[in-house]
Amino acid sequence: MEKLTIQDASRKLNISQRDVREYIRSGDLKAERDPNSEHGRWLVIMPSEGEWQDKFKAYLDELDASITRWWWANEHRQGYVHYLENTGIENVEPNYLCGHRSENLWSSAGHTIEQRCMECLMQATEKGLPLFEDEIKKG
Ligand SMILES: [Zn+2]
Repeated sequence: MEKLTIQDASRKLNISQRDVREYIRSGDLKAERDPNSEHGRWLVIMPSEGEWQDKFKAYLDELDASITRWWWANEHRQGYVHYLENTGIENVEPNYLCGHRSENLWSSAGHTIEQRCMECLMQATEKGLPLFEDEIKKG
């Protein structure tokens, strides 16, 4: 059984140290105090790869379902909001449905239907992706 510090576990699982602590708190990761450490640091008992992937995938799916897919591609919120098919947890480099790319993304809260990129909208509809109609500002 492999036991790693939070820092090493974070690197190995490719998630932030904060997430590792969060998983320990929620019981998704098991951890114990290092008996050889003066400060009683935590050691993460590493899950088997398959076991972890299942859990992590469920977490990603949940995250994916909970946030909007429409984003502004520039900080001035000009032009159109685009549809992001996949969200990453860290180091997001947005890749929109229409092929448009941007270095970052900005919340589309309060956008109107006219501001939605037509190409993104058509592709999302074709693929049966959720359109988040309730986020559109009415009137
Ligand atoms: Zn687009």
